Parts: sequence; structure tokens; C-alpha cells
Amino acid sequence: MSIVTLLPEVRAFLAREHGHFIDGVAVPGSGAGRVPVVNPANGQEIASIAEATDAEVDAAVASAGQAFRGSWARTSPAERGLILIRLADLLIAHREELAQIETSQSGKIIQLSRAFEVDQAAAFLRYYAGWATKIAGETLSPSLPSFRGEQYTAFTRREPVGVVAGIVPWNFSIMIAVWKFASALVTGCTSVVKPSEFTPLTILRIAELAAEAGLPPGALNVVTGSGKIGAALIAHPGIAKVSFTGSVPTGIAVGKAAFDAGLTRATLELGGKNAVGVLPDIDADKAVDGILEAGFVHQGQICAAGERFYVHRSRIDEILDKLGERLKGFRIGDPLDEETQFGPLSNKPHLDKVSRFFARAREENDSIVYGAEVLDRPGFFVTPTVIRVDRPDAALLREETFGPIGTFLAYDEEDELVSLMNGGPYGLSASIWTNDLSKALRLIPRIEAGTVWVNMHTILDPAVPFGGIKASGIGREFGSAFIDDYTEIKSVIIRY
Ligand code: NAD
Repeated sequence: MSIVTLLPEVRAFLAREHGHFIDGVAVPGSGAGRVPVVNPANGQEIASIAEATDAEVDAAVASAGQAFRGSWARTSPAERGLILIRLADLLIAHREELAQIETSQSGKIIQLSRAFEVDQAAAFLRYYAGWATKIAGETLSPSLPSFRGEQYTAFTRREPVGVVAGIVPWNFSIMIAVWKFASALVTGCTSVVKPSEFTPLTILRIAELAAEAGLPPGALNVVTGSGKIGAALIAHPGIAKVSFTGSVPTGIAVGKAAFDAGLTRATLELGGKNAVGVLPDIDADKAVDGILEAGFVHQGQICAAGERFYVHRSRIDEILDKLGERLKGFRIGDPLDEETQFGPLSNKPHLDKVSRFFARAREENDSIVYGAEVLDRPGFFVTPTVIRVDRPDAALLREETFGPIGTFLAYDEEDELVSLMNGGPYGLSASIWTNDLSKALRLIPRIEAGTVWVNMHTILDPAVPFGGIKASGIGREFGSAFIDDYTEIKSVIIRY
């Protein structure tokens, strides 16, 4: 066992009286309300954050508005990109510090905090930085016949929408915040980020690093607090766009509130109930590796994680036996321990939600292949869990658990697999596991999901657009697709 010792700067950061980050500086919270931040590995309070007041939300939006019209508008696209690259370098220079803060607030195992949060956030920043100099409109060829011999020409400009409210969930507090503000900054927008009340600490530190990287005051602001603060931001007249990542019910409320606030644009990255199809030709050990990758990284608390596993009837017994054996050897424990493979769930309400799914599986007499136990120790620990059901309408195949629960159903025919995978209201992601690429290529167009992986799952690449269809959301992040959501097209027509 080698437990990471918290760095002195991490201890000093946690001990601070946290407020908000407004107009380029950390400011104390002026309201009376404080929200505790709890370490999910032991249930103890490690810090508290301020619940923003209306005046603080106003100040953050006003500062972002000023930077949008002033300092950020005057910063050249090349300089914008350089600032993001400098910030990426600073994230790497502070890798261990940020990873330790993240693990302390979220229970993410330390290896994952380093590799999936800090390193990937830096990679996303560098990728987005490249876009700063490439946001451009087009020159068009007018198509109407000339009237009275006059001629005209036309082009479009891509103009930033304005101040973007980035509302972030608790599962990837660094990476998702970076997606939001980097998309805003490279398109010329500015932003106010509202992190989750469960994992608010890392973005407060990153905002300080952004100032150190040369980001002008106001281009990135952070206000903390409960969901009410997110709602106040959306209703604010100074917000031009909302970029929300979170659960489906909150996302629907956010979409409606943005519409009511005056047709404020909203992109919604929501939850899923992602399907994994295992074809009969796959090697059992490879299938088990794939199932662990799809369903159990970060205790299953990944929006794109697989939760519904459809395995060909000829292979399901063998694969479930091997999966159970592998899970038995899983090292569950302190996420700061370098050897730990599986940490706690991130917060108490989520532990309660996942435990209710365990109870439901028992009530519905589903077959528990492995786990479904809450561990009797401090913190919010459960076992990784594998459940086999015999009917496609089982509750565990319909509702997002957002936990380490893989639910398995056997199928016989390929058409049946497609209809099972497409069942339900969500369409965020899916994966197909097979050695037969021709078969995979035939299946891909039939799968209703924003992302389809083949022989991999949950890997997000900054160059590849990501987002949901059906009830999993509206809009895309990454690639070039985000540009549509953060810019307006202005058409210019000139008679000469
Ligand atoms: P959540 O919807 O409870 O909260 C998300 C954020 O919204 C938090 O910051 C919260 O404070 C804020 N919020 C709550 N009520 C609000 C309101 N009325 N108006 C504005 N903001 C409000 O989600 P969560 O529990 O933090 O995260 C888990 C969910 O997020 C899961 O459903 C998961 O699938 C989803 N998720 C989706 C993606 C994706 O990219 N599609 C990524 C990560 C997580």
C-alpha cells in the first residue's frame, strides 16, 4: 500500500476560506450560506464553498460582459490560443496538486485524476488552442440573376455569441469545465462557470492558473453553490448561451429556463443508458476487458459508460463467469492509494441512489452475479456489481444508475441486438465488440447513439465530436462541431 501524502500546497488550498473567482481574482463569498465539500473516501468535510449571492452572480456576468466587449475582443486569435497553451502547461506543472485536490473531493482514484482529468484537460486545451486562429466564415456566390445590371457579393462572419454560462456536473470536474470555457474562449466568447456543489474546488484553482497564464480579468469567472446558482445564471439577461452537462431532468429544466429567459441558446450534454453489444465471435478475455473499460472506470460514474450489456447467448455464461472472477480480485479502497483500482462513489446522495438500485434488483428477483453490496466502512463505498436479467424491460435496463452496475441480457439474433440496443429514450453512446469489422460497419448506421465505439468504450478524443441524440442532449462538443454552438453566423451582402 502506498498512500499518496497530500502536498503542502494541497493542504494549504483545502484549508482556505473559498469564495468565487470574479474579474481575475479570488474573492471571498459575501453571503452567509456555505456548502460543505466532503471527501467521499471517509465522509469527512475537507473544505466548504460559498453559496453565491445575486450580487456575486451579477458581478461575475458583468465582468465577463466587459471582457467580451473589451480586453478579450482586443486579444488576437493567435494570442488567445497561446494563453490556452500556457494554461495547459501550467496544468501539467501543477499535475499532482490538481490530481490530489480532485481525488480528495470526488473519490476518483489518483491514477485517473492524473491521466483522465489533468493530462486530458491539458490535451483538450492544446487542441482547442489550435482552433483560435481558424474560426472563419465563407465567401459565397450570390445566385439570383442580376437586377438592373447591378452586382453584389456576399460573405459570412463567425461572431462569438457573448457570455457563456458553463454548468458542470460532479463526475469530471476539471475536464468538463475545460471543455466549457475553452470552447468559449477560442471562439471569442467569455464565460462564467458554475461547478457542481459536490466537486467545486479544482476549477477555483484552475481559474487562478488561467490568470497566471495571461487570461485577462473577466474572461473566465467562477461562481460556486447549489443548483439555484445555475438557475440564476441562466435567467440572467447578460448570458447569451448556456452550455450544460448533467442529468436529464435538470437538463430539461435548464433548456426550458433558457428558452424562457429570452431564447438563450442552450446546449445540453445529458445522461444515457448506454448499450454494449458483444458479438459471438469475440474472445472471452477480450470481452471482459472491454466490459471493465465500458462499465467500471471511475466506479461507473461516466456519462458515456456502458450500463446495458447484450451478450450473445452462446457466450454469456462463460463471459459472466470470467467477469465475476476478475471483479473478485478488484482492489477497492482509498483512492489516494496508488494500488487502488476502485474507489468510493462521489457523494452520499449518489450512494443512496445506487443502493436503491441494488434493492430493486433484489425485489425484482434479478440474478446478482457479483456484488450489489454497500461496504461497511466510512465513506461511500459499494462493490462493482453485475446483474443478469431475463427481460428487456427490467428496471435496471431502463434507468440510468450512473454507478458501477452492469446489467446483462442474452440475445440470439443480430436484428434483436439492434432493437435491444436502440430501446429506451437515450442515445449518448454505444459500443460493439467483435473481430469482424465488416459486421461492425454494417451495424454502425443502425445504432441510435451520438458515438459508436468498436472494440473500445468511453474514450473521448478532442478531435472527435461528442454529444447525444434522443433524450441524451442537444449539441456537440469537440472537433469542429462546437463552433456552431458558440458562434453566430452574420451574413454580409454588398452591392457594387
Ligand atoms: P445534475 O444535473 O444534478 O447537476 C449538474 C449541474 O447542474 C450541477 O452544477 C448542479 O448544481 C446544476 N444544477 C442543478 N439544478 C439546476 C438548475 N435548476 N438550473 C441550473 N443548474 C442546475 O447532474 P450531476 O448529478 O452533477 O451529474 C450526473 C449526471 O450528469 C448524470 O446523469 C450524467 O449522465 C450526466 N453527465 C453527462 C455528460 C455528457 O457529456 N453527456 C457528462 C457527464 C455527466
